[in-house]
Amino acid sequence: MATDTLSPPPAAGPAIALIDVAKDFGGNRNAAAVRGVDLSIGEGEFFSLLGPSGCGKTTTLRMIAGFEEPTRGQILLHGRDMVGVPADKRDINMVFQSYALFPHLSVADNVAFGLRRKRVPKDEIRHRVQQMLHTVELADKADRRPRQLSGGQQQRVALARALVNRPRALLLDEPLGALDLKLRQSMQLELKRIQREVGITFIYVTHDQAEALTMSDRIAVMNHGLVEQVAPPREVYERPATAFVAGFIGTSNLIGGRLTSVGAETGVLDLGDGQRVTVPLRGSRTAGSAVELTVRPEKITLTAGPADTASRVRGTVREVVYLGTSTSYTVDTAAGAEMTVFQPNDGTASVSPARGDTVWLSWAVDHSYLLTTAPAPAATAADPASLTSR
Ligand code: ATP
Repeated sequence: MATDTLSPPPAAGPAIALIDVAKDFGGNRNAAAVRGVDLSIGEGEFFSLLGPSGCGKTTTLRMIAGFEEPTRGQILLHGRDMVGVPADKRDINMVFQSYALFPHLSVADNVAFGLRRKRVPKDEIRHRVQQMLHTVELADKADRRPRQLSGGQQQRVALARALVNRPRALLLDEPLGALDLKLRQSMQLELKRIQREVGITFIYVTHDQAEALTMSDRIAVMNHGLVEQVAPPREVYERPATAFVAGFIGTSNLIGGRLTSVGAETGVLDLGDGQRVTVPLRGSRTAGSAVELTVRPEKITLTAGPADTASRVRGTVREVVYLGTSTSYTVDTAAGAEMTVFQPNDGTASVSPARGDTVWLSWAVDHSYLLTTAPAPAATAADPASLTSR
C-alpha cells in the first residue's frame, strides 16, 4: 500500500483501525476476498472504500460491522478489539442499498423502531425522532408510509433510522445505487451535509469514483482484496500511487520510460524515441530505473508548434470527440502509442486540430507525477505500448 504522506489520520487515535485484516471464504489464497488490509479511520471522518466490483469492499465493511469474522488480523473500534464481538454489541449501524424499511409502519415509526426495542422512554423517542426527521428534512412526512415516498426520501428514512440510535460509526454500502443519476448527485451533497451535522464517522462503500471524490475526507482505493492508496480525493486524483489508481479514477495517461538523470527536485525521462521530458521527483529515485509518469488529460495543452517547456511530446491527432464543455483528442505520439487530451471549449484553446494534424502536447512539470510502483516488465522505454491512456 502507498504511504499517505500528506494526510496522516488525526492524532487522537483512530475511531476504527484494521490491522492486516484478511478474509478467505475458501479456495486458494490468491482468490481471498480481502488479503491483508491496514486502515486507520479518524473520529468524525467521511471515509470511502472505492474499487471495482469484487475487490473486497463489502466484505471489509461486513467485517467491521461484525457480519463476517476475519480469517486473520485485528479490527479495533476506539482501541477495543472487536474480533468475536457480535454485530449488535459494536455500537455501529449499517445502511444498505435496499432500504429495508417496514412497509406497514409510518416514517416516524420506522425511525423509532430501534429506540423502542431498546426501551428508551417515550418522550425521549418522540424528541429524538422529530430531531432526526428534521435533520434529513422529512419532518413533514412523518405520518406517511414508505411507499408514498420517492427513492431518495426512502433512503433518507433509512439513514434517519440508523442515525437516531447515535452509533459511533455508520457503515453505508452503496446506499445511493438504486437512485437515478440526478437524485444520486443531490443525495451525495445531502449525505455529506448530514454527516457534518451529526459528526459521526461514516464508512462509505462505492464503485463510483465521482461519488467518492464528491463526499469523502479520504478514500481507500481497493483492488483484488488489497488497498492500493489511502488519501484525500484531490491527492488520489492528482497523485495516484499506482497505475491501477490512475486508471480507475478518471482518465489518465501513463508514460513509461527510463530516468536518465536525477536532480534534487526533477529528473529527465527518456521515452526511448529520442524524446525526453522533465519529471518531478518526490522521494528517492535512481538514474537508469524504469518508471511510469502519469498526467491527466485536462492538464495537457495542445499547440501547433513545440511549446517552450521541458515537458512536451509530438503527436498526430487520431480522434476528435466533442463533449460539450470540452473536446477530447486522442493523439498518437511520436513514441508510438496514444494519449488523451481534454481541451476546454471556452475559447482559451490555442488550436482546434483535426484528425491527421500534427500537434505538440505540453504540460507543467508539477502537473505530472511519477507512480510509486515499478512498471510491469513490458512497460519499458523500448516498448511503444508503454505510452497509453486509460
Ligand atoms: P461489489 O461492488 O460487486 O459488491 P465488492 O468490492 O463489494 O464488490 P465483495 O462483495 O467484498 O466485493 O466480494 C469480494 C470477493 O469475495 C468476490 O470475489 C466475491 O465473490 C467473494 N465473496 C463475497 N462474499 C462471499 C461469500 N459469502 N462466500 C464466498 N465468496 C464470497
